[in-house]
Amino acid sequence: ERLSNNFQFLDVGRQDPEKVPVGRRKKQFREIYKPFKEEEVKNQAHRCLECGNPYCEWKCPVHNYIPNWLKLASEGNIMAAVELSHQTNTLPEVCGRVCPQDRLCEGACTLNDGFGAVTIGSTEKYITDTALALGWKPDMSKVAMTDKRVAIIGAGPAGLGCADVLIRNGVKPVVFDRYPEIGGLLTFGIPEFKLEKEVMVRRRKLFEEMGIEFRLNTDVGKDVAFADLLNEFDAVFLGMGTYNYMKGGFPGEELPGVYDALPYLISNVNRCLGYEKAPEDFVDMQGKRVVVLGGGDTAMDCNRTAIRQKAKSVTCAYRRDEANMPGSRKEVANAKEEGVKFLFNRQPVAIIGDERVEGVKVVQTRLGEPDENGRRRPEVVAGSEEILPADAVLIAFGFRPSPSPWFQEFGIDVDNGGRVIAPEQQQYKFQTTNPKVFSGGDMVRGSDLVVTAIWEGRQAGEGILDYLEV
Ligand code: FAD
Ligand code: SF4
Repeated sequence: ERLSNNFQFLDVGRQDPEKVPVGRRKKQFREIYKPFKEEEVKNQAHRCLECGNPYCEWKCPVHNYIPNWLKLASEGNIMAAVELSHQTNTLPEVCGRVCPQDRLCEGACTLNDGFGAVTIGSTEKYITDTALALGWKPDMSKVAMTDKRVAIIGAGPAGLGCADVLIRNGVKPVVFDRYPEIGGLLTFGIPEFKLEKEVMVRRRKLFEEMGIEFRLNTDVGKDVAFADLLNEFDAVFLGMGTYNYMKGGFPGEELPGVYDALPYLISNVNRCLGYEKAPEDFVDMQGKRVVVLGGGDTAMDCNRTAIRQKAKSVTCAYRRDEANMPGSRKEVANAKEEGVKFLFNRQPVAIIGDERVEGVKVVQTRLGEPDENGRRRPEVVAGSEEILPADAVLIAFGFRPSPSPWFQEFGIDVDNGGRVIAPEQQQYKFQTTNPKVFSGGDMVRGSDLVVTAIWEGRQAGEGILDYLEV
């Protein structure tokens, strides 16, 4: 009778996996969503209408076969579902956890018209987590290895996506990263309450068994010369991310007690994972009044990390309104539940303090007349200045490209904003201006999402296969 009920969505509403109670989750760096139960997945997956032209699939940046694996999951056929899911995605269990589904697959689900979208992300996570627990592994038995080898710089989602496509087509990837673990920002950026670190450790074992080689703690340009990689390998893929922190450009940003978001988050990861070199490297918000400036995913992660470090208060000031926040709505809601106070339409104009930070001066903004592009610019409300008292300030204004100084020497061109030029639409997808070098992810498109980095890495992998005539 399960198979015959095409109107399941009328009887069964959307249901997200249960969350750990807020009192407990504020004290721990663990994922806040409990795993979906088998029966819940079957019921939720079966809500899918199997639309003839599935919008979810088009909105998903890797174009997952969503209705097909939802159907397999609703029938309990997890082994077939996990195979299908890996045809388009390198890290489905990660995307299920960290994609802003409300803006992507679930935002495009037809059931949004009053019924509640299918819980696509949680099902994607469930399929891979369950299959791996049952001992599933990628089947490499039909892969015939060639003698081609490709160097990949960066073990983030872009580099891993590229390595996955190459090894499955018989090309050996050797992945270099300056960090001691794979994942890029998945490990050294995104906190454990969104993505537990065991997830990437488990993946590393699988990747290694597939034949991908990792050379970690290796900084290309310092520990290894780029010229040597170009000589030794048949092609090179760059997936090095964007690591220039954006500044506000107002007075007081250099005061003690003001921190850039990413080093703060990484110091917490290093403590949780035991990578901390010296205790003074740890930035602790315990007992402090913390002000976070910004409104994206990084700001939300700072807010919720400070809460877990037992900050006295956490206030997040953002210059636009809530509807215009760039981050995932789900994570903003989680931050609110955990006690973060939001101040919208507040623009910081100075960080004040004598010896160290004492507060942030903000002004209120409102949306003004449309500019020449039709976008309403925020304008300052006269007399609205106020000071938010603060013992610590975290700056989360985003990231700018950070091209390496040696790119030019090797003929790898960047655009005016510093992004590596590697278009998708050309003979060899994601080839740079040096024919032997390919690139993708944040360093090509500007800082964006895990799933778009995976897509570009995978597409570049295909570009490399064509270039190598494999
Ligand atoms: P990265 O993940 O940055 O990986 C680049 C890797 O290259 C790093 O490991 C780096 O060590 C290595 N590298 C760079 N230079 C060298 C060198 N010279 N030698 C050796 N190794 C080198 N996206 C989402 O979809 N959902 C989220 O919830 C989300 N939250 C985020 C939270 C934070 C705090 C941040 C900062 C980002 C978040 N993002 C999120 C964005 C997402 O993490 C990135 O878009 C994605 O990781 C980009 O992947 P990438 O492979 O291009 O680069
Ligand atoms: Fe949705 Fe992301 Fe999974 Fe695509 S990869 S189906 S956008 S959760």
